[in-house]
Amino acid sequence: MRQMSSDKNSSRPHAPATRAVHSGRAPHDNFGFVNPPVYRGSTVLFPTVEKLWNRDQAYTYGRTCTPTVKSLQDAIADIEGGATTELTASGYQAVSTAILAFVKAGDHILMVDNVYQPTRKFCDYLLARLGVETTYYDPLIGAGIADLIRPNTRLIFTESPGSQTFEVQDIPAIARVARERDLWLLMDNTWASPLYFRPFEHGVDVSIQAATKYIVGHADAMLGAITCNERAAKYIAMAKDQLGVCPGSEETFLGMRGLRTLPTRLAQHHRAGLEIARWLEGRPEVARVLHPALESHPQHELWKRDFLGASGLFGVVLKPVSDKAVAAMLDGLELFGMGFSWGGYESLVIPFDARSYRTATDWQPEGPTLRLHIGLEDVNDLRADLEAGFERLNAAAD
Ligand SMILES: *Cc1c(COP(=O)(O)O)cnc(C)c1O
Repeated sequence: MRQMSSDKNSSRPHAPATRAVHSGRAPHDNFGFVNPPVYRGSTVLFPTVEKLWNRDQAYTYGRTCTPTVKSLQDAIADIEGGATTELTASGYQAVSTAILAFVKAGDHILMVDNVYQPTRKFCDYLLARLGVETTYYDPLIGAGIADLIRPNTRLIFTESPGSQTFEVQDIPAIARVARERDLWLLMDNTWASPLYFRPFEHGVDVSIQAATKYIVGHADAMLGAITCNERAAKYIAMAKDQLGVCPGSEETFLGMRGLRTLPTRLAQHHRAGLEIARWLEGRPEVARVLHPALESHPQHELWKRDFLGASGLFGVVLKPVSDKAVAAMLDGLELFGMGFSWGGYESLVIPFDARSYRTATDWQPEGPTLRLHIGLEDVNDLRADLEAGFERLNAAAD
């Protein structure tokens, strides 16, 4: 199967929406069928002893790569603007593999304080056990990150906007420091997806996607992606190989299926999410809405400068109210499900408590905090569901 970039023969580069539709497939290598087939396989046969000794063919072992995996890897690399992509079995595995690619015992890494919580666990337990020390830093640190660098610092890990509290990082400022001090810059780019933040144009070396979220897009598979610039590619490829990281065939296909409609879905998540966020800002029960595309967001200007859109995930800080009242609101919702993953077509809500795990920054919300994912339902129906929720909350408030 040919390596496919959607603008191979074109005089001008195609827009990301066009790439999402065309990259990573070659119908005429596949009897004209629009979608590449799912190759399921462990053993790959060699026609001669000579070819076997020399591993002289495109695919040699199911774990290493299959045409199905290569199709999606090529497509994500093309859309996100990286040199290569490696797929992993989950987003978390993309995080752990990417960090392990660069560290050894005695090293030190810088980790953003509002990072996805399991990433924190990885640093505090597994990395600590391997003799790698982690310093958590304020997501708003910007170029001030330079003061935290030690002689043994190897990498800076960013996530923007950060999980649960949605602070936006000044990635270009951090990238300048990373480049000056010869550190690797990693970013968890799941919130924006490959479409709404262009990591490699802002100086990131390695971009991580929990493809489970918007790329798969239908809450029906676990998948991760690590996309790299040229200089990071061989380190990530080696770590993936040595750790035995291997995505499932069906999951890879579902990722490919999701990717084709990602631009269209994200545009709707952006529109509907922002509409609900604005409406929530006007509610008397709400203290603050944590959505980077709102003018009220403290880093709104950074978001406007660097991002091309917003996804459907944001936070809400309620005015002080009892846990019982919040439970009355959430338990009765009809359209919003309660669960931890997100990025599917459906709306979700969870309560969260970011006070419980932060170490570098003090997070003091005015009241209980919720995280919403606005799905692809009709916005008026979603608003009505939340409105009825607020009525239950007020009725149950002491
Ligand atoms: C969900 C998520 C992950 C982990 O992805 P899984 O596929 O669930 O393992 C990593 N980073 C962020 C920001 C996430 O939201």
